[in-house]
Amino acid sequence: MRGTFRLTRVMGIDIDIHITFFLLLGFFFLLLGFNGLVLILGVFFFVTLHELCHSAVAAHFGIKVKHITLLPIGGVASMEEVPTKPYQELLISLAGPLSNVLILIIFYYPLIAILGKETLMYPFLVITGQIKYTGQFNVLAHIYWINLVLAVFNMLPAFPMDGGRVLRALLSYRMGRKEATDAAVRLGHIFALLFAYLGIVYGHIFLLIIAVFIYMAASSEGFQVQVVETIKKYSVKDVLAKDFVYTNPRATLSEILAMVFHTHQEDFPVLEDDRLVGFITRREIIHGVHERGKGASVSEVMRRDIPAVKVTTHLNDVQKLMQEYNTSALPVARSGKVIGVITLDDINRVYIMASNIA
Ligand SMILES: [Zn+2]
Repeated sequence: MRGTFRLTRVMGIDIDIHITFFLLLGFFFLLLGFNGLVLILGVFFFVTLHELCHSAVAAHFGIKVKHITLLPIGGVASMEEVPTKPYQELLISLAGPLSNVLILIIFYYPLIAILGKETLMYPFLVITGQIKYTGQFNVLAHIYWINLVLAVFNMLPAFPMDGGRVLRALLSYRMGRKEATDAAVRLGHIFALLFAYLGIVYGHIFLLIIAVFIYMAASSEGFQVQVVETIKKYSVKDVLAKDFVYTNPRATLSEILAMVFHTHQEDFPVLEDDRLVGFITRREIIHGVHERGKGASVSEVMRRDIPAVKVTTHLNDVQKLMQEYNTSALPVARSGKVIGVITLDDINRVYIMASNIA
């Protein structure tokens, strides 16, 4: 994601943090001084722990988590694939909020012993509206109760919260995954509108931001599942173009540009003695021309890490690979011989056609 940088690495998972986090730190420092800094660091510690618990259960089911991104509004664990078995999604989704509940249970008595019951309970009574905030501030007590907020907020039964995933998993036992997703998405939209309403009525900007985020995240979740469900019947051979153009490592970028203009292709397999040695896409072509000029050779700018897919590879898996390798095209090979190129546009075309004739 843009504007993030690597903070650390835990259990083989990169923890990235969004730069707006520092705005939050600054804001709370101005608001509460040193206590504000500790509070925000505490919040992010427990958000990270929450995401790591999702990740640990996902890893148990063989689903790799690439990275965890900490945003001002919470954390996101990016999984390499979506769990498709309902019980897996159920357990992965419950693990995060459960970690917060466990923290609440484990630290309840020790904190009462350290802080006294009145100090520990004070933020809880404020959060639940039982007493008015009087300016009393114990940072440990506040950090402790953040876990309750995290658990409750995340268990709202709407996308993109964990509760939405729990709901979809439970509904998936009774209906199709697409229908279950639609229901969770609709609930997500309802919650978003409710938050927006409350944000406007009570003048809470933060609630409005959360509302917008929930609305968009719910929609995007629904769209992704719709795409996956629509294109899952198709594989590479169903869309592969009959002819394609390839190049060689010694070709110059100006030759490649000419090929782009004369063919419908923007991405070219790079072959040497019929063997795939690289792949060059629109991005490398543009970047290469800017950095090294039109006289540069293909071998200087081509990517060497891009794998070839088979004609039998399902479009969903093609799309996953494109995401993983951050590319919009992949070479296609049959028994080691390159026979074409598949692009994101090809997949989009299938999606548009298939979803309109269904
Ligand atoms: Zn979660």
